[in-house]
Amino acid sequence: MIRFEEHHQEIREMISDFSDDKIAPRAEHLDESQGIPSESLSEIADLEMLGLTIPEEHGGAGLDLLTACLVVEEISRNCGSTGAIVATHLFEGTSAILRLGDDEGRARWLPQLASGKTLATFAMAEREAESDASAIDASAGAEGDGFAIHGRKTWIMGGQTAGLTTVIARRGEDNLEDLGAFVVDPTVEGCRREAHEDLLGLRGAGFCALNLEGVQLPSNAHLSGCSGGWSDILKVVDMARLGAASVSLGVARGAIAHALEYSSQRKAFGRSIDRFGAIRAMHAEAATAVEGARLLLWRAAGLLDAGKSAGREVSMANLSAKQAAYKAGRDAVQILGGNGYSREYPVERCYRDIQALSPFGGGEDLQKILVARSMAGVRS
Ligand SMILES: Cc1cc2nc3c(=O)[nH]c(=O)nc-3n(C[C@H](O)[C@H](O)[C@H](O)COP(=O)(O)OP(=O)(O)OC[C@H]3O[C@@H](n4cnc5c(N)ncnc54)[C@H](O)[C@@H]3O)c2cc1C
Repeated sequence: MIRFEEHHQEIREMISDFSDDKIAPRAEHLDESQGIPSESLSEIADLEMLGLTIPEEHGGAGLDLLTACLVVEEISRNCGSTGAIVATHLFEGTSAILRLGDDEGRARWLPQLASGKTLATFAMAEREAESDASAIDASAGAEGDGFAIHGRKTWIMGGQTAGLTTVIARRGEDNLEDLGAFVVDPTVEGCRREAHEDLLGLRGAGFCALNLEGVQLPSNAHLSGCSGGWSDILKVVDMARLGAASVSLGVARGAIAHALEYSSQRKAFGRSIDRFGAIRAMHAEAATAVEGARLLLWRAAGLLDAGKSAGREVSMANLSAKQAAYKAGRDAVQILGGNGYSREYPVERCYRDIQALSPFGGGEDLQKILVARSMAGVRS
């Protein structure tokens, strides 16, 4: 299922160079200022990376999910926050329209997302309904020719800068089948954004809450491909999990690279510390964990690209990427010794970003439950 072709390598090299030249020098300031990486995002749009997975007929490049995984990983290698916003746009915002929209909706929204003029997000979580979608309280009731939507969404990654968000809300009955997806312009009357501030990590990822106070939506804001409720929404949630895995692998690789460089220069007991077996073992274990997780990620992306269901593979990829990132981040801090705790060195930021990534796409406990449930299903 993994088909790594020449164009994958070409795009990977191009975005890797861009990430080193443009993203890396801005990462520290972005983290400190808790700003939005507007300049980087506009350059990423100029490179035509924000329409990667959108079909050519709608202005995109029509490429596969594997390409999106590569691009997000290379950006995240130097800045988790910038990678996270790009991941949200590609894997969640764009996917929601692609997978849940009809032909008319795709034609209306996808061209602006492909050009990168508009960034897209996905708003599902609520304060009382994070892992548990059945507790979603936001509601979209029929009103006039369309809908009026009420509720409060939280933790919308990239939400501070997005021009379009897909909001998950109840259409009526209090059950998972009755959840629907609605395209909302967060700048319209009745929408109020509140930035989530003073975060531990991913501080430049533009997190916000969105208050929806009777926002009037036309009937075509309702994504009709979501008629099955939660079972359809899961198609986008699976994408979010792939995006989270890609960001995690990128940040992990950044931490490993910093630790490797440091350990080749730092001397203790008369020699560089990378000559010590314990340090070498940490490098080798972290790199192996990242490589293994990436294969799971590419397999899951390949299955989805082939139109197959891959819930278990997606959860395995998400879980193993986060576990690999924990290992890489923790070891990198340890390898830097006292300097690992200093803001003078980037591993401290990588470590915080990795912690912040844990709930993205659902926490590790949830992924384990999903994998185990799927295994039980196969056995029974
Ligand atoms: C980086 C990041 C990006 C995000 N992006 C978005 C976004 O773009 N859009 C959006 O809508 N939301 C987003 N979220 C919100 C995210 O989806 C939720 O935080 C996530 O669903 C998990 O909820 P929770 O674990 O934080 O909370 P809770 O559901 O309160 O869970 C708390 C803890 O309990 C565990 N737990 C929950 N249920 C079970 C269970 N049945 N068994 C065992 N353990 C359990 C969880 O794993 C977690 O460790 C983002 C969050 C982060 C941190």
